[in-house]
Parts: sequence; C-alpha cells; structure tokens
Amino acid sequence: MTRQRSNATATRITSQTQQPLVGPCEQCGGDVAMVTPEYAVAVLRLPPDKLFGLLASGKLHSLEKPSGVLICCGSLPVASAKKGNSNRAGGGK
Ligand SMILES: [Zn+2]
Repeated sequence: MTRQRSNATATRITSQTQQPLVGPCEQCGGDVAMVTPEYAVAVLRLPPDKLFGLLASGKLHSLEKPSGVLICCGSLPVASAKKGNSNRAGGGK
C-alpha cells in the first residue's frame, strides 16, 4: 500500500453568501459592502417584507449579479441609521 499524499487543496468558497462582499455601488459612487438579501434578513434582521418592499420601491441600492442580487449596505436602513440615533427604539428583548 502506497501512502498517497493527496493533499488536494480544495479552494472552493462555497459560503460566499455568508459574508458581505465589497463592490462598487454606482449610486454611492464608491466601494461599499454588498450583501445578499438572505444576509440582510438573517444578520441585519431586516424583515423580508420590508427588505423586498424597499428593493421594489428603489430605496435600496442593488446590484444584479449572475449569482443573485446584492444590496448595498450603505442604503440599508439599519446600516445607515447613523444620523439621529438618539431616538431609541426599544424593541430589543
Ligand atoms: Zn449604495
């Protein structure tokens, strides 16, 4: 028996949808983090209804990729809530 050293470097990135990608957003005019709708829902806890409503109304910057649509983090309401955050929305636990 020959001990075969099969160190197959499987560099397959299958979990691409798990991480935000950085890409150019035409509407922001720069490189921003782009996330999938699934990511926005799961990680940013944006209700799907709201997400797709915003997308449909064009309030979210989106980028269509062959793999699916990506959403610009800069246009997400959760991410862009840096102004006037003194208004504490107590909806935690
Ligand atoms: Zn944008």
